[in-house]
Amino acid sequence: MSSVQLYDTTLRDGAQREGISFSVIDKLHVAQKLDELGIHFIEGGWPGSNPKEVEFFDKARSLNLTNSVLVAFGSTRRPKTKAEQDANLQALTDAGVKVATIVGKSSALQVTQVLETTLDENLGMIADSIRYLKTKGLSVFFDAEHFFDGFKTNPDYSLRCLAVAAEAGTDCLVLCDTNGGTLPNEVTVAAKAAKKLTPVPLGIHAHNDGELAVANTLAAVNAGISQVQGTINGYGERCGNANLCSIIPALKFKLGIDCVTEEQLAKLTEVSHYVSETANLIPDTFLPYVGSSAFSHKAGLHVSGLRKWANSYQHIDPAQVGNQQRVLVSELAGKGNILYKARERGLDLPLRGKEAQKLLGQVKLLESQGFQYDNAEASFDLLVHRAKPDYQPPFELVDFMVVVEKRRRPPTQQSLEEMLSEAMVKVRVGTEILHTVAEGNGPVNALDQALRKALLQFYPSLAQVKLVDYKVRILEESIGTGSQIRVLIESSDGVEEWRTVGSSTNIIEASWLALADSLEYWLLKQH
Ligand SMILES: [Zn+2]
Repeated sequence: MSSVQLYDTTLRDGAQREGISFSVIDKLHVAQKLDELGIHFIEGGWPGSNPKEVEFFDKARSLNLTNSVLVAFGSTRRPKTKAEQDANLQALTDAGVKVATIVGKSSALQVTQVLETTLDENLGMIADSIRYLKTKGLSVFFDAEHFFDGFKTNPDYSLRCLAVAAEAGTDCLVLCDTNGGTLPNEVTVAAKAAKKLTPVPLGIHAHNDGELAVANTLAAVNAGISQVQGTINGYGERCGNANLCSIIPALKFKLGIDCVTEEQLAKLTEVSHYVSETANLIPDTFLPYVGSSAFSHKAGLHVSGLRKWANSYQHIDPAQVGNQQRVLVSELAGKGNILYKARERGLDLPLRGKEAQKLLGQVKLLESQGFQYDNAEASFDLLVHRAKPDYQPPFELVDFMVVVEKRRRPPTQQSLEEMLSEAMVKVRVGTEILHTVAEGNGPVNALDQALRKALLQFYPSLAQVKLVDYKVRILEESIGTGSQIRVLIESSDGVEEWRTVGSSTNIIEASWLALADSLEYWLLKQH
């Protein structure tokens, strides 16, 4: 079967999902992860839309992508202007990328009703914009917005838009189900009509409003399209985009299309979790292929069947997508996983049977208390170190106290009330005990300041370490303020970033644990 190229838009369309806000650092990390998965094109954002997007493309120049090509997104020029004077097209040529995707209308009704211009002017906008970007040396993909809806009411015009884009030299015509309401059989008919029209490669960009984005994408592949657009975990506006975590294994296992290698596919579950953690969304355990329930079986008939024949109640081998069958995870397999992970992290572990068993018990206990190590490798490394009988921590907490106070100010001041946070920390370094006090703009910040004040006397280089991200997750929402809280902290020394985790029913304690791990991890690496 023909080849298919994967195009990820998690960082642009995916970020449109309610509740997602990626920082520039988040986006750079996700891009790196998508590269590991073997995604061919990564749509990084819309540089014409805001300065954060421009900053991303600037910083992305130093990304070391081995499999992926970074793409900048934009739109066709505005009506009745010149392409060379269009700021949004200019931003695409300034983004430092080799490929640009531009969206343009391909539905007659959308042109007259929403864009409020003439059908001919829209064709001019498509042609001019593509030609302009081509003269700047870019490859250009054309997202034909509302193509399938337009094809239903005025197929001639929708196909005319594609023909004009093809003539202007576009490298791929991407058929969009923008409103996500098209059915698979309708996709087949429209995609075949497009295929007949032009030899230019076709793509599909499907939304999930009818819960058919994956089905529509596969229908389009069967009709001969060669570029598949989607997002990790199906994140996207409204009900989301086509889910690449379902599409990639379907292409590989069900349609026999070699879009990624077996090694890359085995990272799928990891990438899915990585993106949900980065987006600060609870991973959906019921996602096909990558969810933790996707291959889990309750005791009974299925389990006894599984014992006789591993595939008796599963449609693929979960290991192929980096997932696992849950009932069959024995203590032994668990231990093997941990030792494997420690080796993968470059930790030279002379942990013998008993110590490894102890470490496994520790991990299981902590995970049951809300710690989670998939996205906090630095805390995992520390756990492994702490399992060694001769481990000497660079510092130890004796105790801490945090005071948060709301004070009334004299009426002459602009704000009548202010919040004060002060932390007192007692830590032991070697045989010495240090007692420090610091203020902060919040309790966690005050704690951070007080701890640093103490440690800087012994480890001045610690000044390089900065906290770059702080995420709080409530784990058992039903219990309200009494629930378990997980804090994930990302730190950087300007060269490297690392993540640590803390969990407690108390947000300050959870923060403290993640914070202390962050500094301990860095000190350990330096000495
Ligand atoms: Zn979209």
